Amino acid sequence: MPSSRNIRWQPSVIDRKSRSWIKGQRPCLIWLTGLSGSGKSTIADALEHRLHACGRHTYLLDGDNLRHGLNRDLGFSAEDRCENIRRVGEVGALMVDAGLIAIAAFISPFRADRDLVRALLPECFVEVHVSTPLSVCEERDPKGLYRKARAGELKQFTGIDSPFEVPEAAELTIDTSTLTVEEAVDRICNYMVAAGYIDSF
Ligand code: ADP
Repeated sequence: MPSSRNIRWQPSVIDRKSRSWIKGQRPCLIWLTGLSGSGKSTIADALEHRLHACGRHTYLLDGDNLRHGLNRDLGFSAEDRCENIRRVGEVGALMVDAGLIAIAAFISPFRADRDLVRALLPECFVEVHVSTPLSVCEERDPKGLYRKARAGELKQFTGIDSPFEVPEAAELTIDTSTLTVEEAVDRICNYMVAAGYIDSF
């Protein structure tokens, strides 16, 4: 709800349907959720590359990148994480409205926050749980964050001293300890075809 009663929704003649028609695609938000180091950014990047190569108009929303700009005022308290996801959900919804296939890679550890984004995008939200086990993520530790968290230098780190709430009804679950990046991308693209977002890849 807007903060003032004087703010009204301004309708536009050109809507999501007309914008996506011109692109020949059905827009959606592919939402990758999972522990740090589970492979979200790597898969998101490879997925965008694959979709772009077959002529799809995409946009990648990456957690770390957005924290450099739009979300740079936010930290990692439960409240800030919630606001982080709320903003990304709103941006994702605008992108879907623009006719794009948006891909979001965010730890997004809380179920309620992810469900709020799902509610913003009825019938075009694809939740992908990147379910790589903590032990594998910690062994990879691509940013050295698990080491810092274990040493007590980093507080409220998901999987260590902050919870990750596993999705209960994700459209897809991908464990990168048993799948290659390309196999993970194949799975997502196959789902997108089956669900009618793209006709081929
Ligand atoms: P996240 O975005 O979830 O924090 P990243 O994608 O940044 O994770 O890091 C995952 C790390 O795991 C990268 O260094 C990547 O190269 C490595 N990795 C190894 N195997 C895979 C795989 N099958 N899928 C995705 N990432 C993998």
